[in-house]
Amino acid sequence: MHLILKGDDRKPARGSWYLHGEPPLAVICIRCSFCGKPSTLRHMNGSGHQIAADGAVNPSVVCPHSGCNFHEWCRLEGWTGSELPPAE
Ligand SMILES: [Zn+2]
Repeated sequence: MHLILKGDDRKPARGSWYLHGEPPLAVICIRCSFCGKPSTLRHMNGSGHQIAADGAVNPSVVCPHSGCNFHEWCRLEGWTGSELPPAE
Protein backbone atom coordinates (compact mmCIF):
# COMPACT_ATOMS: atom_id res chain seq x y z
CA MET A 1 0.00 0.00 0.00
CA HIS A 2 1.45 3.28 -1.09
CA LEU A 3 0.78 6.66 0.39
CA ILE A 4 -0.49 8.78 -2.48
CA LEU A 5 1.27 12.11 -2.79
CA LYS A 6 -0.75 14.57 -4.81
CA GLY A 7 0.87 16.53 -7.59
CA ASP A 8 0.64 20.25 -7.00
CA ASP A 9 3.21 22.67 -8.35
CA ARG A 10 1.57 25.92 -7.34
CA LYS A 11 0.84 25.76 -3.64
CA PRO A 12 2.12 22.44 -2.41
CA ALA A 13 0.23 21.21 0.61
CA ARG A 14 1.30 18.59 3.08
CA GLY A 15 1.55 15.23 1.41
CA SER A 16 2.13 16.58 -2.07
CA TRP A 17 4.96 16.50 -4.54
CA TYR A 18 6.17 19.12 -6.97
CA LEU A 19 9.03 19.95 -9.26
CA HIS A 20 11.39 22.62 -8.05
CA GLY A 21 13.23 24.37 -10.85
CA GLU A 22 13.08 23.87 -14.58
CA PRO A 23 13.70 20.50 -16.28
CA PRO A 24 16.18 18.99 -16.86
CA LEU A 25 17.73 20.57 -13.78
CA ALA A 26 14.56 20.38 -11.74
CA VAL A 27 14.40 18.24 -8.65
CA ILE A 28 11.46 16.35 -7.22
CA CYS A 29 10.35 17.76 -3.91
CA ILE A 30 7.80 16.42 -1.50
CA ARG A 31 6.15 18.12 1.41
CA CYS A 32 6.09 15.77 4.34
CA SER A 33 2.58 14.82 5.37
CA PHE A 34 3.72 14.66 9.01
CA CYS A 35 5.86 17.75 9.64
CA GLY A 36 4.96 19.73 6.50
CA LYS A 37 8.57 20.48 5.66
CA PRO A 38 9.90 20.10 2.13
CA SER A 39 12.58 17.63 1.16
CA THR A 40 14.12 16.47 -2.08
CA LEU A 41 13.82 13.02 -3.59
CA ARG A 42 17.15 11.96 -4.96
CA HIS A 43 16.19 10.77 -8.41
CA MET A 44 19.18 9.05 -9.95
CA ASN A 45 20.12 6.00 -11.94
CA GLY A 46 21.79 3.34 -9.88
CA SER A 47 21.40 5.08 -6.55
CA GLY A 48 18.79 7.20 -4.91
CA HIS A 49 15.11 6.98 -5.69
CA GLN A 50 13.65 5.37 -8.76
CA ILE A 51 10.25 6.57 -9.93
CA ALA A 52 8.24 3.86 -11.67
CA ALA A 53 5.93 4.59 -14.59
CA ASP A 54 2.96 4.66 -12.23
CA GLY A 55 4.72 7.09 -9.90
CA ALA A 56 5.71 4.53 -7.28
CA VAL A 57 8.86 5.60 -5.49
CA ASN A 58 11.49 3.02 -4.65
CA PRO A 59 12.98 2.80 -2.07
CA SER A 60 10.63 4.14 0.57
CA VAL A 61 10.69 7.80 1.52
CA VAL A 62 12.19 8.89 4.82
CA CYS A 63 11.74 12.46 6.03
CA PRO A 64 15.17 13.96 6.75
CA HIS A 65 13.96 16.51 9.26
CA SER A 66 14.85 15.89 12.87
CA GLY A 67 12.03 14.92 15.14
CA CYS A 68 9.93 13.59 12.24
CA ASN A 69 9.40 9.87 11.85
CA PHE A 70 7.73 9.91 8.43
CA HIS A 71 8.76 6.75 6.60
CA GLU A 72 6.38 5.53 3.90
CA TRP A 73 6.19 3.87 0.54
CA CYS A 74 4.87 6.63 -1.70
CA ARG A 75 3.37 7.07 -5.13
CA LEU A 76 3.48 10.35 -7.00
CA GLU A 77 -0.04 10.98 -8.24
CA GLY A 78 -0.11 12.25 -11.80
CA TRP A 79 3.45 11.24 -12.53
CA THR A 80 3.89 10.47 -16.23
CA GLY A 81 7.59 9.71 -16.36
CA SER A 82 8.24 12.56 -18.76
CA GLU A 83 8.63 15.23 -16.11
CA LEU A 84 12.23 14.59 -15.37
CA PRO A 85 14.86 12.30 -16.76
CA PRO A 86 16.91 10.52 -14.10
CA ALA A 87 20.22 12.17 -13.36
CA GLU A 88 23.39 10.27 -14.14
ZN1 LIG B 1 8.62 15.14 8.08
